[in-house]
Amino acid sequence: MEDKVKSFEEVAGALELPSNERALYTEAVLQYAESFLTSLPEQKAYQNKEDTSDLTIPEEGRPADRFLSVNEPGHLPGLNPASGGHLGYIPGGGLYAAALGDFLAAVTNRYATVYYVSPDAVRIENTLVRWMCSLVGYSEKSFGYLSPGGSQANLSAIVAARDAKGINSKNVTKSVIYYTSQAHHCIDKAIRIAGLSEGIQRVVPVNENFQMDVVALKKIMEDDLGKGLLPWLIVASAGTTDVGAIDPLNEIAVLAQKHHVWLHVDAAYGGFFLLTETGKQKLSAVSLADSVVMDPHKGLFLPYGTGALLIKNKENLFRSFHYKANYMQDAEDPGDITSPAEISPELSRHFRGLRLWTALQIHGLKPFRAALEEKLLLAQYFYKEIRKLGFETGPAPELSIVTYRYVPQKLKNNKAAVNSFNQSLLKTVLEDGRIFISSTSLQGNFWLRLAVLSFRTHLNHIKLLLNLLREKVATANLDVEVKE
Ligand SMILES: *Cc1c(COP(=O)(O)O)cnc(C)c1O
Repeated sequence: MEDKVKSFEEVAGALELPSNERALYTEAVLQYAESFLTSLPEQKAYQNKEDTSDLTIPEEGRPADRFLSVNEPGHLPGLNPASGGHLGYIPGGGLYAAALGDFLAAVTNRYATVYYVSPDAVRIENTLVRWMCSLVGYSEKSFGYLSPGGSQANLSAIVAARDAKGINSKNVTKSVIYYTSQAHHCIDKAIRIAGLSEGIQRVVPVNENFQMDVVALKKIMEDDLGKGLLPWLIVASAGTTDVGAIDPLNEIAVLAQKHHVWLHVDAAYGGFFLLTETGKQKLSAVSLADSVVMDPHKGLFLPYGTGALLIKNKENLFRSFHYKANYMQDAEDPGDITSPAEISPELSRHFRGLRLWTALQIHGLKPFRAALEEKLLLAQYFYKEIRKLGFETGPAPELSIVTYRYVPQKLKNNKAAVNSFNQSLLKTVLEDGRIFISSTSLQGNFWLRLAVLSFRTHLNHIKLLLNLLREKVATANLDVEVKE
């Protein structure tokens, strides 16, 4: 028996790399990262090519000079989210400082879940949550947790709201949720996962700026109450994904309070603009919400995997997510502490707070504020300049998203041709690859969409895109596109 154990011990011992080998592998990783970062300004934002990574899983480990089986740095296929030319979806970038925090989180492997075993990690995460709570203007009664992203945070918010409002299998068919067509699709996902699909979902009309029409909301809610239905949740957006619209939160909050309805604000994209002067003015009413979601992996430029749910009254998270287990009996929180495990769906989890903590310690808040102010101005600049080029635009940018499309005079009465003209415009920008933009569909029309949020995006990227679009429009062959 002992011999057998020893023989396995010998082989398994390879899992603890000795110091000299550690250095070799670490060096290989650092070299890859350095080569990636130094060539980043020349890298494409989008490369339409095959993935050539070697994906075999070996039985015997690979030496330091061959273990990185991924593509060469700078030649990764698909979207390059680290690039400043990433102006599609919602960018962020991925701060190196945060990667250093991640490295330490993984090496030390602190259990950032329960105060009893990792008071340091829990205190760091809770400090970050408290900071975010004060950013949105919440009181000491509020709290929250760092989630893997906005979708999971929105799901937890809806679960907490469901339980706080007593929605269950007996009353769900009479229960009503209000949101607009502009709400992120993770809200629909959350409604389904939370077992609320059998309830009623009202899609509230929007105004010409794609904000919730509060007069319509009031009328629909009153009609529903008159019918004996049970309005219980309004999901508003503070920065919609499509156009960056901020719903009129003050007016919505008045209605929510009057009818005892939970107000959830999805600020996954827009929330961290609260660090700017403009954002403070536009987003101050977020403090009226019962719960708020914001994504550090968007507005704080962190690598993917960090969102946050903040809740006005901590008890509402505790009610939905607190469980006891025999094997956890030693892990009770002291009175003034709440561990993430008590108020969130996860147990064992990445110490994701350390990446944010490290980034904030290395940089301080000042450059974050400046970067976010810069993004707001870049969107304004693009909006002004693209109109000068003769493009149609959607609403003036509330935050950092602009929708736009070109309507050639010759095609103007042919909706399908205009749509396909703009589709081909998108395609040619992506073929160039230096800038990545995306598109959306608004009221049945195809629109190009610019979203500025990477910390690496600067005026030169916006000017490059404007030049590309000018060129493509000037050289486009309109005859091909007309389908009568
Ligand atoms: C990105 C986004 C989400 C989803 O967040 P993930 O972090 O991608 O899961 C939800 N709502 C809005 C408004 C978003 O922009």
